[in-house]
Amino acid sequence: MKITRIFAHRVELPLHETTYAWSGGKSVTVFDSTIVGVETDGGLIGCGEVCPLGPFYLPAYADGVRAGLREIGPHLLGEDPRQLAKLNRKMDLALKGHPYVKSGIDVACWDILGQATGMPVCELLGGRYGEDVHLYRAISQESPEQMAAKVATYRAEGYRRFQLKVGGDPDVDIARIHAVAAKLQPGDRLVADANTGWVQHEAVRVAKAVRDVDVYIEQPCLTYEECLAVRRQIPHPFVLDETIDDLGILLRARADHAMDVVNLKISKLGGLTKTKQARDLCVSMGIAMTLEDSWGGDIATAAIAHLALSTPPELLFSTTDFNSYVTVSTADGAPQRVNGRMAAPTSPGLGITPKKNALGERVVIVE
Ligand code: MG
Repeated sequence: MKITRIFAHRVELPLHETTYAWSGGKSVTVFDSTIVGVETDGGLIGCGEVCPLGPFYLPAYADGVRAGLREIGPHLLGEDPRQLAKLNRKMDLALKGHPYVKSGIDVACWDILGQATGMPVCELLGGRYGEDVHLYRAISQESPEQMAAKVATYRAEGYRRFQLKVGGDPDVDIARIHAVAAKLQPGDRLVADANTGWVQHEAVRVAKAVRDVDVYIEQPCLTYEECLAVRRQIPHPFVLDETIDDLGILLRARADHAMDVVNLKISKLGGLTKTKQARDLCVSMGIAMTLEDSWGGDIATAAIAHLALSTPPELLFSTTDFNSYVTVSTADGAPQRVNGRMAAPTSPGLGITPKKNALGERVVIVE
């Protein structure tokens, strides 16, 4: 089987809540997503999705996905999409870095492998653990009172895990954590995610001010070293996210006891192949994970669902359903939240069918 064409659509994904805000005053109102298609000589077409959280979250931006596909695409024509390790090596030799560019192609090739073998991606990724997985809900940064009020709304939708967007003014963040924690019920779980927004002394100060709150602290500062220094001074369970973007730093963080949970995002690591490698390593090392992506719609959510369902439940800390945040549906058959949980499709590949009328014109064609 050979790759004969790689193409992409640009899709705008507005939000039901109009805006999503996090640390440092950053926010997005309409997500700019790239739906990637990989076409083969046998007629199979696989799809993937890459949707950065704006240009100021990770070293990734929406136009960069499309530019990168034009750069890397010609190197992949004629390659067998089912030979994923070889394909990834080819991508890494053709373009240094830029893992997010490669992610959509890699996911599309997993979709093809599943269609070619008649197996759902989650079974190919290691096996399906159970029926469904629990979801977390991100609470966009607002005033402490507004954020606390959201807990009841999201709990009514079935969510029991809440990820509070902090990383702003430390005094307001202390109030945010206290206000939201006061709304929790037994069995709920709370993460305060600063998304790199605090400097070291602020992070230590916030954590000490909420020392008696049952809350996880996620990625307080910009650098690994700052996060490690904070981690060593505070009592809370600790999550690393933005700084863990390859195996080298994952292993270093493990050796340093720098985290209790790690957040692995598919496009941050460069696709399902590389995320599976990190995920499997975490399973062997006993590190729990949040498995997700930077953002996306139906197709990104399907890839997340397959990854999450193929992970031992005791090591799956949380995952998420981005397609329920956005107003546009781009595929039939995508996972849907039911009582705060989501399942992965049971049909071959990703188990979804892109909606042609939702995708518009192709903005990248390599053939
Ligand atoms: Mg995070």
